Amino acid sequence: MRFLTLFFTLLGAILAQNSPFYRVKTASSPEPLVLHREDYVAAALAGEAGGFTSAEALKAMAITIRTYARVNAGRHRAEGFDFCETTHCQKLLIQNVPARLRQIAADTEGLVLEAGGRPAEVFHSRHCGGRREAAGAVWPAAARPWLQGGEDTYCLSAGRQPWRARLTLDQLARALGFPSLTSLAIARRTASGRAATLRSNRGPIDAEIFHLQAGRALGWDHIRSRLYDLRVEGAGVLIEGWGAGHGVGLCQTGAEERGKAGHTYPQILEAYFPGTHVRHPVPWRPLHTESVDVYGSGAAAENEVPALAGRALREAERLTGRRISARPVVRVYPTVAAFRDASGDAGFIAASTRGNVIRLQPPARLAAENRLAAVLLHEMLHLALAPAPGVRLPRWFQEGLALWLEQPVTQPAPLDPRTEARLLNPASEAELRAAYANARAAVASMVARYGRSAVLGWPATGMPREAP
Ligand SMILES: [Zn+2]
Ligand SMILES: [Zn+2]
Repeated sequence: MRFLTLFFTLLGAILAQNSPFYRVKTASSPEPLVLHREDYVAAALAGEAGGFTSAEALKAMAITIRTYARVNAGRHRAEGFDFCETTHCQKLLIQNVPARLRQIAADTEGLVLEAGGRPAEVFHSRHCGGRREAAGAVWPAAARPWLQGGEDTYCLSAGRQPWRARLTLDQLARALGFPSLTSLAIARRTASGRAATLRSNRGPIDAEIFHLQAGRALGWDHIRSRLYDLRVEGAGVLIEGWGAGHGVGLCQTGAEERGKAGHTYPQILEAYFPGTHVRHPVPWRPLHTESVDVYGSGAAAENEVPALAGRALREAERLTGRRISARPVVRVYPTVAAFRDASGDAGFIAASTRGNVIRLQPPARLAAENRLAAVLLHEMLHLALAPAPGVRLPRWFQEGLALWLEQPVTQPAPLDPRTEARLLNPASEAELRAAYANARAAVASMVARYGRSAVLGWPATGMPREAP
């Protein structure tokens, strides 16, 4: 769960352009799932690299996954979502992501590979077979200076991963939509040795198209890579190859072996994406207090944050009558850009909270608007109102209850059916503001109906069934 607080004095910015959420199509639900960008990274880490043992290799993967998502968000826009959950985009494991992988995502939060000041196009695949492919050799439009081919001795130390597929000419003819196929051979290879063009009685076949058509018709586990030899034997076709995946960019098996050999994640990324760089994380300076851990960058404007955060915590506990169980962490970002990169939130968002971490914009701006204390209180209220394990509460209720506790004098109003979706993914600041106002008014009507102490108990017990 994640919460946002607006700069109320700023107007007109559009969130959608830099949305902190991805819409993900899953087999289990008819509507796309809305996932925070960092939760997407953790889910893709579990789907793509769950077997990794090296923490440095996992960090390299997390940064590659995050960068890929940043560059490719919206590739399924025509179908109404950003990403699918399969290896077509990045394989996701959304439920029960291991804590170890969540931690790796958190440790690399917001970090992306850049080239020329922008997130770089990146790819990764399972095992390059010792020879990485140049992106341009597979997808001419994807050619980039940092996506050249090259040797990779590291994955080979884990074995060549040989595979063998026995298919028939008839099967392949049907897969390719040909009336018949009587001959098939490799006509040309790319510089890395992968099949580039096949020769057949029906004329030349692009090896990438052959790979896709055969995979779609017969399943993806037959022809695992394009690094293969192919021989027609009677009516059968024997394809023997090694490695797995397209071989472009980061080789997962190689990255894991490099990590085990003691390479750091910047070294691993430099090996697979030479010439790109990871934008440096904020050099955090801890300012611990009795009740809150505050991390800043040393700016003078941060000095009052620890005391204000401690006061906000006590005030939130007093207003809710609940204890904040997980010790709060406040991260004060030195620049709007750093905040945006790390939180995924737009510049007009003043603060956002996920888990027990409150992320705060540079405080000078909030202090100038005289809102620093109020913003910290709002975020601390979210921590105090965090639902108990197993309790699910709609976002409008959590947001509305925090707002109502801050300002209990509100005209009650029924819940607007658009409010929940607007809080989750607002199209504009004005829409988000309207959603806040309605959430508070809807909570006010809950309080009028059920009483204050009953409503304050819902984070522990859940909402009554008949409540909206
Ligand atoms: Zn996809
Ligand atoms: Zn490799």
